[in-house]
Amino acid sequence: MPTMARQSSDTRGGPPRVSTRVDFAAPGKQQGFLDGPQSRNDSAWGSVRIPVTVVSRGNGPTVLFLGGSHGDEYEGPIALMKLARTLQPAAVSGRVIILPAYNLPAVRNGTRLSPIDGRNMNRVYPGRRDGTVTEMIAHFVQTQLLPLADVVLDIHSGGKTMIFAPCAVMHEVEDVDLKRRTIEALLAFGAPYGLVLIEPDDQGLLDSAAEEMGKIFLGPELGGGGMVTHDSVAIAESGIGNLLRHLAVVKGEPVRRGAKPTRLLHTQDRGCFTVAEENGMYEVLVDLSAAVTAGTALGQIHFVETPGRPPVVARAERDGLLICRHAPGLVQSGDCLAVVAQDYPDADLGNHRMTASPLST
Ligand code: CA
Repeated sequence: MPTMARQSSDTRGGPPRVSTRVDFAAPGKQQGFLDGPQSRNDSAWGSVRIPVTVVSRGNGPTVLFLGGSHGDEYEGPIALMKLARTLQPAAVSGRVIILPAYNLPAVRNGTRLSPIDGRNMNRVYPGRRDGTVTEMIAHFVQTQLLPLADVVLDIHSGGKTMIFAPCAVMHEVEDVDLKRRTIEALLAFGAPYGLVLIEPDDQGLLDSAAEEMGKIFLGPELGGGGMVTHDSVAIAESGIGNLLRHLAVVKGEPVRRGAKPTRLLHTQDRGCFTVAEENGMYEVLVDLSAAVTAGTALGQIHFVETPGRPPVVARAERDGLLICRHAPGLVQSGDCLAVVAQDYPDADLGNHRMTASPLST
């Protein structure tokens, strides 16, 4: 392969093995690839090529847009391909970096995990330069792209196995100023719900990697079930535009889609997560966005081999709103069946709702 530009080195053993000809410092619009070496039977000196678009002009924040972290989630790739085609430098103050399908092998395969190495892109951070393809890509994002970014939007859905009521997700970050700016960005995104989430498993998340570097990080969860709806893609598109306007990277004010502002929720504790106790066939009894109370029957698991056995009822352990549920009709013991979220208790939220000030850094 030709010699390609290598960027800054990294403490974990040298520069990334993923390389690119895209110059992230150059003004204008570039479309190219992140090339990860992949020597295989059908291509001795082959690569996995991750499409990347950079649109840059003048001074302003850098926004990193990622889609396709999981290959069975489609709102991000669709909305970000549109952005990559249409966004022009004349409309931008700052820099926009767009990776519509950054776990491309998984996206081409329509699976959560990469078919090359079986890894989950959002569990391998900070990545490894000497790792598998998925780990190499994460290492490039960690060491080359996150340092450039002021704001990171990593668009998700529930994939084939979960469905969310459309929400923009953030974590409870400790830094008060970063938290304020993240909530402002979340509300500007304009999804029906915002969710301050306790992660069931926080190991290796891009979210945490970005937050530790002081970046504003949002991870919208816009639907799921292995499909898209017109609405879920529309929320992604309007949210992307709103975020760019909120940050003054693009001119204009955020535009609200619906009649109501974003309702900010959180998961108060582990009791918000209802887990399957048995294998079986799952009958949903409560639809997304419904209000529930502790003890509400959310669904019940039937036993197809023993029809005489009564179904096992899965109940909410907390009061709240059903923000997420299991998607497929079959469940296994240990599956997350439902997530119940509560209104966020922040007394200052009224102020956050009213301020959509441009990024001050
Ligand atoms: Ca996901």
